[in-house]
Amino acid sequence: MKKIQMVDLKSQYQNIKEEVDKAIEDVINSTAFINGPAVKEFQENLEKYLGAKHVIPCANGTDALQIAMMALDLQPGDEVITTTFTFIATAEVIALLRLAPVLVDVEPDTFNISIEAIEKAITPKTKAIVPVHLFGQCANMEAIMALAKKHNLFVIEDNCQGIGADYLFSDGRKVKSGTIGEIGCTSFFPSKNLGCYGDGGAIFTNDDDLAYKMRGIVNHGMFVRYHHEMVGVNSRLDSIQAAILNVKLKKLDEYILARQKAANYYNTAFANHPKIKTPITSSYSTHVFHQYTLVLSGVDRPKLQEFMTGKDIPVMIYYPIPLHQQKAYISERYKDGDFPVAEHLSAHVISLPMHTELEDEQLAYISNSLLEFINR
Ligand SMILES: *Cc1c(COP(=O)(O)O)cnc(C)c1O
Repeated sequence: MKKIQMVDLKSQYQNIKEEVDKAIEDVINSTAFINGPAVKEFQENLEKYLGAKHVIPCANGTDALQIAMMALDLQPGDEVITTTFTFIATAEVIALLRLAPVLVDVEPDTFNISIEAIEKAITPKTKAIVPVHLFGQCANMEAIMALAKKHNLFVIEDNCQGIGADYLFSDGRKVKSGTIGEIGCTSFFPSKNLGCYGDGGAIFTNDDDLAYKMRGIVNHGMFVRYHHEMVGVNSRLDSIQAAILNVKLKKLDEYILARQKAANYYNTAFANHPKIKTPITSSYSTHVFHQYTLVLSGVDRPKLQEFMTGKDIPVMIYYPIPLHQQKAYISERYKDGDFPVAEHLSAHVISLPMHTELEDEQLAYISNSLLEFINR
């Protein structure tokens, strides 16, 4: 059996090596390393895939979030509501721009931001909501958009883990994750569902004015060379990364199916186990399984991790500490126990290997090993 990886980028590369190597070589031969034709081509390919009017490539997902908030002209002190159960980048850029991150709890079944909690957190200073499509499943966007409309708030979707997921509105309309709010953000970090071979990111919007502004912000606030209309940043997607992404975007749907297939294997293996809660797929979103995350009860998690590591099976805890308990974000606003769902999840979740190249033999070994520990 092939050695099990949390994310097996090597095996994936072996299967697309020829095409990727050629794409990289073409960029090198062209020497168009910055803003070359591959970047424009990728932008257009992704616009088509997402059904989004505008895609603005940038340097990484964290920048994408920051540029979105800059474009919306959020001012110091403005409150931005987001989930406490996410990767730090979501709140980081809010804090960096001197906005006020307002953290809220999540739903226990989807791990996504709680609508009830958002509603309670809205004040006259609230300007935006940043839902995260955690682990590859959309937050309840229809409810979030309704709240945003009622209170005149912007919605920025952190779609770093959700690219390719379909969102289903109650009227039957189906759209891609990240294209519902004013702005959607994604990351092409290598282990993400659409990952490049370094850093990369993109911003999506259907709003022409916001797109124009964000194209300026990513390029030093410059539209005409050496004329700077606004304060910007330097955030570009390298041509080599764009060329790799052009190859991988064509495979994204196939990759999503491979992840869903692996998830189904796990779901079947752990079905109805009293100590294991398998991921739930909500009625309004497909699940693209950036992570496959279980909630355990009555299991010694550190001992389980040790056991799995001993069997050469990598496992991870996403995320061991919610943001409101992170040293950099502890404030008088919050105390332990404020977000019981997120705190419970942090103490009880475990993520299993999840990628596009998992073989049945590996999946059987992983699930049997987990059950062996839990059932003994
Ligand atoms: C990965 C990730 C980011 C940041 O992306 P980078 O490209 O690493 O900057 C932000 N938010 C979430 C939820 C992520 O998973």
